[in-house]
Amino acid sequence: MATDLKTEFFKKFVRNNRIVYGLLMFIAMFVRGSGVTKSTFVLVYYVAAGLLMLIIDELLFSNIIKRIEQNKAKIPSFIIKIRTILYALLLSVGSIFSEVPGVLLVSVFFICFYVILQDMLFSDIFNTFSNEIRLLFSMGIATFILFFIHYRHKVDGGWFIIFAFGMGIVLFVVHIVYDAYYSTVKDLDDQYTKLFFKNTDLMAENEKLVEFREKVEKVNSEINYQKINLTKANSDLENTNIESRSLIEVMKYFSASFDVQKNVHIMIENIMNVKKAGAVGFYIDKDVYMNDDPCVDVISVNDVMGTMIKQDILNIYNMIKNRNSTEPVVLCDNYDFKYPFLSGGNICNAVAFPAYENENVYGVMVVSSSKYEFFQNGHSFYESSVMDFTSALISDRLYLKTEEMAKKDGLTKIYNRIYYNQFYPELMDEVLATGEKLTVAMMDIDHFKSVNDTYGHLAGDEVIKMVAGVDAKYAKKYNGKAVRFGGEEFLLILKGIGVDEAYSILDDMHKEIVANVVEFEDLKIQVNVSMGLASYPETCEDIGEVVDKSDQALYYSKEHGRGRITIDGREEE
Ligand code: GH3
Ligand code: MG
Ligand code: MG
Repeated sequence: MATDLKTEFFKKFVRNNRIVYGLLMFIAMFVRGSGVTKSTFVLVYYVAAGLLMLIIDELLFSNIIKRIEQNKAKIPSFIIKIRTILYALLLSVGSIFSEVPGVLLVSVFFICFYVILQDMLFSDIFNTFSNEIRLLFSMGIATFILFFIHYRHKVDGGWFIIFAFGMGIVLFVVHIVYDAYYSTVKDLDDQYTKLFFKNTDLMAENEKLVEFREKVEKVNSEINYQKINLTKANSDLENTNIESRSLIEVMKYFSASFDVQKNVHIMIENIMNVKKAGAVGFYIDKDVYMNDDPCVDVISVNDVMGTMIKQDILNIYNMIKNRNSTEPVVLCDNYDFKYPFLSGGNICNAVAFPAYENENVYGVMVVSSSKYEFFQNGHSFYESSVMDFTSALISDRLYLKTEEMAKKDGLTKIYNRIYYNQFYPELMDEVLATGEKLTVAMMDIDHFKSVNDTYGHLAGDEVIKMVAGVDAKYAKKYNGKAVRFGGEEFLLILKGIGVDEAYSILDDMHKEIVANVVEFEDLKIQVNVSMGLASYPETCEDIGEVVDKSDQALYYSKEHGRGRITIDGREEE
């Protein structure tokens, strides 16, 4: 039987017992008080018996209920049985010592019956044969005592039959009550058990459902997390793709161009576009691709950031070059400036990427941004850009060198006649287009054959080199071009310079050549040169005739004493 059903039932019984015992005590007092009996013993005895039963019940049942509630071992059923017999005896023994009035006798009889009924219930062994035996046994004792102790001398056989008959009826009623009680309780118990198990099943199912829901939620959140990761990976991939494609485009440009400075610009422009940088600057040291000066190019979204890079890029390059590493240098990491460069200008992140060839640093690229975590995706795109640029630079330089070699004379390193044939027509067009002046000086070493004859060809070569060197020096100084026109014949082509200025330049040159003593082995050789000068438009209206006219002027110098300068059209001066 279910615990709370049982305890509730027992508690009800204990409450009813109090009323029943109270009734016994009340009847005892009533029979004495109303004069039905003169025996004070009867009063005292049955009040005391009622009290005693009350106390025993309180102690015994509170213990039983407590044990049921706490799921402890049951009180053995023989204790209940002892209680039943004890109560039957207690109720009947009183009649040994005094005559008990009828009403009290009936009460005692029914209390006996009531106690016996409880015996069955509390023993909790309903459908057993021994229970009914016990019932009969207990009732037999009670009835026997009633009959044979008090009425043995007074009551005739008729009373016995009436009580015996009453007993039978009582037995019958008890049996029916017991059955009804048993089936009700059993039914309730079954229902309760069913409900209990159903409830347990439901709870288990519920727990499973909760567990399942938690799992689903967990899987869901994992899926969401993966979705976010995938989205990010996808966008990273897309960005990488865009970067790769841009690098390919830049490479394509590099492969078709030999202009290093233009290449620098295209590369940094690409970085600005793809990475949305704040500023990108590139610095290449001088003499890297036959450049006489360093190359610097900066693109920026605002002037301040661009100016900062322009100001500091040389110092950054020197710092990078003095390290023994080609790894990028973080100059500023989220406003944390690691070097005394680029501070200010709202720069939040800046990295310097060395440009190097065979571990030799030849330049640097500086990328800066005002964005937080600007370099969070690493440096590889920038490094690839610089690497691509370097490989393009190597081939450009080779091309430029080859081109330069083709343009220049092997002995003197000044422009050769072939290159002259190429550039001079273009120069004439340019001069005609801009309306500038064009002056050509032609010079020839005097009596050079005798130099060769006297000192040998190698010495002659040294003399040619000396004169060409002076020619090149003045060409550079006045932004002109020096050309080896023939064996020991040279041109100095001056654009934007008129006759008088050109004459003064040639005069200086002439003096320098005469003053230069060529030392070859133990020899000291001194030479003189003759010069002829013609200028468009001053001496010569037709630009196409300038070179011829200078040649004619040179011829005049040769004819008129050598070692002199003749101006076309002013031969007599
Ligand atoms: P002039 O004063 O009239 O010019 O007399 P010249 O002896 O200088 O005569 P010319 O200009 O005709 O002489 C040219 C000589 O230069 C002939 C040639 O042997 C010599 N020559 C040409 N190219 C070279 C060269 O590369 N090296 C050497 N050593 N001699 C050269
Ligand atoms: Mg000559
Ligand atoms: Mg000569």
